Amino acid sequence: MSKRITIALMGNPNSGKTTIFNNLTGARQHVGNYPGVTVEKKEGYLRYKKHEITVVDLPGTYSLTAQSEDEIVARNFIVEEKPDVVIDIVDASNLERNLYLAVQLMELGVNLIIALNMSDLAKKMGLRIDEKKLSELLAVPCIPTVATRKQGMEELLEKALALNERKALSRREPIRYGKEIEEEIRKIEEIVRRDGELGEKYAPRWIAVKLLENDEEVREKVKASAFGQEILSQVEKSSAHLESVFGEEVEAVIPDRRYGFISGACSQAVKKSYEVRHTISDRIDRVFLNRILGLPIFLGLMWLMFKLVFKLSEPMMGWIEGFMGWLGNFLGNLLPEESLIHSLVVDGIIGGVGSVLVFVPIIFLLFLAIAILEDSGYLARGAFIMDRLMHKIGLHGRSFIPMMLGFGCNLPGIMATRVIEDKKARLVTILVNPFMSCGARLPVYTLFVGAFFSERHAGNVLFSLYLLGILVAIVMAKLFRKYLFKGAPMPFVMELPPYRMPTLKGALLHMWERGVVYLKKAGTVIFAGCILIWALSNFPYNIQYSRNYQALIEKVRDKEELVIKLKNEQAEEKLEKSFAGRIGKSISPLFKPLGFGDWKPAVALMAGFIAKEIVVGTLGTLHAVGEGEESLRGALRKEKWPDGRKVWTPLVAYAFMVFVLLYIPCVATIGVIYRETNSFRWPLFAAFYTTGIAWILSFMVFQGGKILGLG
Ligand code: GDP
Ligand code: MG
Repeated sequence: MSKRITIALMGNPNSGKTTIFNNLTGARQHVGNYPGVTVEKKEGYLRYKKHEITVVDLPGTYSLTAQSEDEIVARNFIVEEKPDVVIDIVDASNLERNLYLAVQLMELGVNLIIALNMSDLAKKMGLRIDEKKLSELLAVPCIPTVATRKQGMEELLEKALALNERKALSRREPIRYGKEIEEEIRKIEEIVRRDGELGEKYAPRWIAVKLLENDEEVREKVKASAFGQEILSQVEKSSAHLESVFGEEVEAVIPDRRYGFISGACSQAVKKSYEVRHTISDRIDRVFLNRILGLPIFLGLMWLMFKLVFKLSEPMMGWIEGFMGWLGNFLGNLLPEESLIHSLVVDGIIGGVGSVLVFVPIIFLLFLAIAILEDSGYLARGAFIMDRLMHKIGLHGRSFIPMMLGFGCNLPGIMATRVIEDKKARLVTILVNPFMSCGARLPVYTLFVGAFFSERHAGNVLFSLYLLGILVAIVMAKLFRKYLFKGAPMPFVMELPPYRMPTLKGALLHMWERGVVYLKKAGTVIFAGCILIWALSNFPYNIQYSRNYQALIEKVRDKEELVIKLKNEQAEEKLEKSFAGRIGKSISPLFKPLGFGDWKPAVALMAGFIAKEIVVGTLGTLHAVGEGEESLRGALRKEKWPDGRKVWTPLVAYAFMVFVLLYIPCVATIGVIYRETNSFRWPLFAAFYTTGIAWILSFMVFQGGKILGLG
């Protein structure tokens, strides 16, 4: 028994459609008109391997917008008659322009084959199209053909039959329009789906995109449907919102994204493109994506960005610090001196949460800079440039932006991995993200670098820590890819959207979305954590002071000074006997081989699980020093073991910073890993393997340094 299938031929005018149509069907043709219009309807027939195939030669179009009668006829045929297979015939010598139609057909979700026709001309022009790569990137089979010489016809038919058998839509959403637009698409789609008839006949996503593109035809269809009013009013709202974000109409942004997708795909799959689109974007890209200049320019810009962010945030951090100090004083004066509540509010809550809030400027500025780079289209170039390097460690260029965000805060970084469709690559990106030294680790470095390294070396020490984090991430990603999540990364198009002027609103919005994650962390997990740490270090409340302070009393003559010293000594003893002190003492032997086996750093590291910046505040509390980093630095420098050796040397400090950089991600990060992977396995794994690596590297630093005579 033979099967009947329908194949529709689409393509830009003059791409060779009619030639292919004739090749396939020979003389068995029928020419008529589509009802109601003057557009010619050409159908032909052939038998191939027990299939009765009807081939329809649709009018040539550049696009599927309903601009002309031809376009409407072609589109309606595809949407309403639903041919089994659509062959899009593209002029391979003019690939980028021709692929615009292909991309729209992909969006329609049809069973698509791309015929790379005129491949003889393309070759002559020096274009080398890697059709295998292109097929992978687009998730659509691409077959080179030369219609005039009947080359590739058999392959087209074979592929068409195979595709028809599977009825496979290998990937549903080839193009993502970015977070904002996607969000609006989703809203519209949802209402369309509710409208049974509409949602069944057309792909809801396609309807949503078309409505945002202001497609008259689709509008008319929707208007007539049951939920028409509701859908259109949502479209209106969405369009207005998007226009305010992008600073131009969304119907202009959507085609840009499509071209960005095509441009990226072609840059990856076509060698030596003679097809020079003389747009501004292309001219800029000739420099930014240059094989030799691209990477140095990119690294330079990144360096500049970090430099600028650190410089600009410095004074703002001062203001916040000042404000928190004032607030602590103000509330402290309202509360009874020396009382538990005073200590809870001033030291526990304001001290703890304040130490986190200080980093708001640095994190928000970093996210603002990233948002500007992202909205302008440059960050996509960065990902493109990094793509090849990322592939070397088994990841994809798309893993790059999450890593960048990780330098601000690992939470938004991990959340941003959602754009990575390849599950394994995504998991690896999540698992190594905590090695990106986030803003919270900076205060720990600042404290120790300031205390133990000269100003001349400070910058290098800091830089070496960031670099170490990146190196560990690279090595781990490679190992994961080799042993845990085997397989090469799935190919994806790295979009190259045209450059555009970022809008203030858009940039601020993007900054806010990611920054607010950090604020939430300060308001919830860290708030609770600070109270916990405070409680652990204040209870048991009434202890017996056992030390003999006689020596102190004899030594210090000045009465006021004596009172302060006594208070400090007692505070230290109280801490030592508190729950925190006891826990610290019991785990501190673990850190002996790393150089910092004292109970105080052990407690600080435990507290750092709540948020790494708390390490500093905890050390401050444990050393019973008042406000200000200067005094804590001094206290650390002076701290001695009972045998008189210094507890902290530059080597120990460095080993400690390495440990803080690498060990267990903060509890909020662990929580996000749980949420994003939806399993307990990965957060647990992340907690243990990072700590293991931290211990090993810290050990190597400390013991190695000792052998080299550095400590
Ligand atoms: P249509 O407008 O898409 O129907 O395109 P046609 O089939 O009419 O072809 C347009 C022109 O391109 C004709 O002159 C064809 O001979 C020529 N042509 C079609 N396919 C090829 C090909 O693969 N290579 C070359 N060199 N010319 C082709
Ligand atoms: Mg024709």
